Amino acid sequence: MKLLIVAGTRPNFIKIAGLLYEISKFPTIRYIIVHTGQHYDINLSDIFFRQLKIPAPNVNLGVGSANRVTQIKEIKRRFKPVLKKHKPDVVAVVGDVNSTVACAELSHRLGVKVAHIEAGLRSFDRSMPEELNRIRTDKVSDFLFTTERTAYTNLCNEGIESTKIYFVGNIMIDTLLKNLKHIRNLGAYKKFNLIKEKYGVVTFHRPSNVDSRKNLTKLLNMINIAQRELKLIIPLHPRTKASIKNFALERLLNNKNISVVNPLGYFEFLNLVINSKLVLTDSGGIQEETTFLKIPCITMRSNTERPVTINQGTNVLVANDTRKTLKEIKRIIDGKSKISQKSPELWDGKTAGRILQVLSRVL
Ligand code: UDP
Repeated sequence: MKLLIVAGTRPNFIKIAGLLYEISKFPTIRYIIVHTGQHYDINLSDIFFRQLKIPAPNVNLGVGSANRVTQIKEIKRRFKPVLKKHKPDVVAVVGDVNSTVACAELSHRLGVKVAHIEAGLRSFDRSMPEELNRIRTDKVSDFLFTTERTAYTNLCNEGIESTKIYFVGNIMIDTLLKNLKHIRNLGAYKKFNLIKEKYGVVTFHRPSNVDSRKNLTKLLNMINIAQRELKLIIPLHPRTKASIKNFALERLLNNKNISVVNPLGYFEFLNLVINSKLVLTDSGGIQEETTFLKIPCITMRSNTERPVTINQGTNVLVANDTRKTLKEIKRIIDGKSKISQKSPELWDGKTAGRILQVLSRVL
């Protein structure tokens, strides 16, 4: 069986690493890796290949930045000759980014089977580009690998045949577990002059939070008030950095209790998270990692496509409500944070094996 694995962005690289750790156990599977080039900064791409020992991509489509519609169209145009040349039996796509939907739709159009890893998550918020990408990807997928039980219901409600859906667990946790010992042993947080459990880690880059001046200002003001309670470190995403510059809002992060740093490598970032008091984020993957690591997570969104992180995990939604955020921060500092007892079902480090078993059995 020939498997073509697509990855284009930071969270994609982290997810495919989990798959690649297991793939040598399946000698009937040959694979190639296609990097779409959606993320191309060293800090958002190369570092993950190096740290997670992901083999160099066989092909890089070099798509670069563009608005969503243009980027999807351009990835399809560049992916077409690759697909025709390599003729895979199945194309594996992960997550919810433009690369995911573009390669899934083109593969389907050319009659190649599609496996979607992290299928069926829904925020029910169609103003989110990620939600549109998820729905479109799932519609053309032949194998829908899900991370939590709710995904099955979401997919069935959209008319997807239940026989195509496989509940396999969370592949990000495979990658995390494989590297956890090393991550714990690093002293990365000390290099930023932070004291264990005396700081919060902040990340934000969702278009709804950073693309409009009004929303970005509100969020930055909220972070500015939050720093009165706790020292904060912000590994700033390039999209957010560009918006802050564009709207000339740099002064709102100019505070001695806030450290703004470049995006971090996987090991350093998770070492910071593990040793922190709390995480303030709008990331999808970080909601899941904090649930697994039992680190309190305050999510600066009004919804989540990952409800298991709320129902069973440490996650709390605050949107951009300063009052709610402060209340949560104080609650956590007072030791009254939400505690998750048990990791969500099948978040056990064995997800990649389950996926590869299905693919090698069926194809
Ligand atoms: N991450 C990282 N360095 C950082 C920030 C995040 O390695 O500076 C990792 C994080 O641990 C998680 C993933 O990147 O595994 C989340 O990516 P992101 O928030 O960009 O995407 P989302 O999950 O929101 O799609």
